[in-house]
Amino acid sequence: MESTQTFPRYASVILDAAVDKLLDYGISEEHASKLKRGMRVQVPVRGTLRTAYVYEIKEKSDFPKVLPLAAILSEHELIGESLFELALWMSRYYGTPLRKVIKSMLPASIRQGLAHKEQYFVKRMQSKEKLRPLCETLREKHPAQAAVLDEMLCAQEGLLLSELLEKSGVSRSPVESLVKKGILQLEQIQIDRSPLIGETYFKTSAKSLNSGQAEALKKIVRSMDGQSFETHLLFGITGSGKTEVYLQAIENVLKLGRSSVILVPEIALTAQTIERFRARFDTGIAVLHHRLSAGERRDEWHRIRKGEAKIVIGARSALFCPLQNLGLILVDEEHDGAYKQSEEAPCYHARDVAVMLGKMTNATVVLGSATPSLESYRNAMEGKYTLSKLTCRATSAKLAHVKIVDMKAEFEKAGGFTTFSAPLIEGIQKRLELGEQTILFLNRRGYHTSLSCKGCGHIFHCPHCDVTLTFHRSKEQLSCHLCKFQLVSTATQCPQCKSYETLKYRGIGTEQVERTLHALFPGVRSLRADGDTTQHKGSHERLFRAFGTGKADVLIGTQMVTKGLHFPAVTLVAVLNADSSLHIPDFRASEQVFQLITQVAGRAGRGALPGEVIIQTQIPSHPIIEFAAAQDYEAFYETEVAVRKQFAYPPFTHLVKLTFSGPNPSEVQATATEVRDMIEKNLDKQYEVHPVTPSGYAKIKDQYRFQCLIRGVSTYPITALLSRLTIHSRRVKLHLDVDPLSTFF
Ligand code: ADP
Ligand code: ZN
Ligand code: ZN
Repeated sequence: MESTQTFPRYASVILDAAVDKLLDYGISEEHASKLKRGMRVQVPVRGTLRTAYVYEIKEKSDFPKVLPLAAILSEHELIGESLFELALWMSRYYGTPLRKVIKSMLPASIRQGLAHKEQYFVKRMQSKEKLRPLCETLREKHPAQAAVLDEMLCAQEGLLLSELLEKSGVSRSPVESLVKKGILQLEQIQIDRSPLIGETYFKTSAKSLNSGQAEALKKIVRSMDGQSFETHLLFGITGSGKTEVYLQAIENVLKLGRSSVILVPEIALTAQTIERFRARFDTGIAVLHHRLSAGERRDEWHRIRKGEAKIVIGARSALFCPLQNLGLILVDEEHDGAYKQSEEAPCYHARDVAVMLGKMTNATVVLGSATPSLESYRNAMEGKYTLSKLTCRATSAKLAHVKIVDMKAEFEKAGGFTTFSAPLIEGIQKRLELGEQTILFLNRRGYHTSLSCKGCGHIFHCPHCDVTLTFHRSKEQLSCHLCKFQLVSTATQCPQCKSYETLKYRGIGTEQVERTLHALFPGVRSLRADGDTTQHKGSHERLFRAFGTGKADVLIGTQMVTKGLHFPAVTLVAVLNADSSLHIPDFRASEQVFQLITQVAGRAGRGALPGEVIIQTQIPSHPIIEFAAAQDYEAFYETEVAVRKQFAYPPFTHLVKLTFSGPNPSEVQATATEVRDMIEKNLDKQYEVHPVTPSGYAKIKDQYRFQCLIRGVSTYPITALLSRLTIHSRRVKLHLDVDPLSTFF
């Protein structure tokens, strides 16, 4: 019957489920006027109704038998024309089915059409003081309930049930259990969400720019006025006033009646930057941060879509918000690895996608950094990007004085291993006397980073992962940093050779640094910022606020103390083990070490007081350490780009990394080899298909991992080939990463 029916129009749709091909449906007169590309619709598939997205509207269908489209689910497009174009590009470039790309673009609440009419509010029935110990006693036997309480402990009054479930990642039943026990209460409410209400800021006005800033702004404004796509690289040393340039660029784009999106690497760590945007633009600004509940995210999304917010700040996925008439895309700290999605397909790099979106929408793109990625700087050198340099600090603050300390010599002097060199101890002492602050950076958390036996050489590994266990003194535990495995560490006997008194703890983590600091300076006030002290949501902000308001003399931390922080009273910053990451066999290792040291150094001397940086290293004459100490980006770039060229690494080639994983190592390896050989056979000879090797972490959570790198001038032939691939073993998973950040892990 249906087969003979004809329609005025047809729609090709993509199912929101696990089907990646296009299906055609007929559009009735009634739907024809409303239906647009990118809309979410309902279509019949084998007797049931399924959700799909409109890919294309056309006059004819090649299918012999076409059913009518059942309903239009969205009253507006979920994905506008330009985002839809972008999704198509991402799908092709990152070798990911369009359905998955769209999924990663839309907040879950929008995808699921979350209608928030009725809601439950969850309240604590006991004080936080009572809940804390209770939470710990539940952790072992009822981890889901403990996870619920963790969130409830962070909440002010309480949380919406939907929020609580989303944040704690559990189902409703542990919440119900806690309600039954009288620990929590559910209350039905009507809600009206607006995350910004209640926050006020002192309004700031535009600063008069120095000549470097003015020149950079002029170029940016020129391309915004011309409404033609152009990418700018704003290369300015830390504290040179890049943010002020962003703020004034946004002012200009608003005057043109267009909107802007600002990407920041990790929203929790950039609270200070966000505050500066809010203080300048009090209305029409939306901040998409990880603490928003599903409902809040949905409301912000609609505010943006309706044009009520014309400035959007957020992490990488903010790029996909439904801004109308986009004029300016800013990517702050463009070199930051947080812009790359590595865990889940599509493994996109938000900086690269930003440039593509700018191209598709004729928007101006500004990438800013004190340590640009090699890719971006080369693009600027080649004339693809417009380069602006800010070479001095915007305020009277001087760049910090950097001192390299040779730790080998320090060990000799101290007669053994030491974490604090003599110059560092002296430096901290001086700051304590003057009432100034110090930041100590170390990239390992925990107390000791490994435990082994001196007798037989046995090393305590995670039983599920290919990594040594880290000792955490506060919890008296050995724990795995890749999975949640924990072992209570009362071990005094070697499990292998059974001898006593032979176990040896090694390697320094932040926890030990803090303890040593207190031994050296009794009474010192310290704060520690690492994965252990910032587990609870909001704890970053609290910690940094405490340090900013002088509640501690010394801040000890991992990567999270290196980014974008502005503490004027910090006059000493020390990198405790500058070379540790240089040993990782990865083509980006040097670049990352350079960026890290430069960024950490940039935290010192941001106020009126001069700053000092101490870099402790065992390889003081390593060129990367020297370039970083001299804060000489250009010299670093020249050296590093020559190495990349010589070994044909990005930016001179593109890489694709295939990671195969599964429970059985030989099966994984065999599948990987089979796929690799197939690829090599079908790919042009100019592509280099590397042999299959175990990944840097050869096992994670009992899944064995093997990888294969492919290198060539373009990635399209590789992704096209892979899209036609089927893996025969159901137990082997393939993860595809185009332009991977790391070739090792
Ligand atoms: P960056 O983003 O490059 O690290 P910031 O924008 O944070 O630099 O600027 C560092 C400091 O200089 C801030 O306190 C900022 O308010 C100040 N600043 C920036 N531009 C100017 C200017 N033109 N005149 C005076 N102060 C400025
Ligand atoms: Zn032993
Ligand atoms: Zn593990």
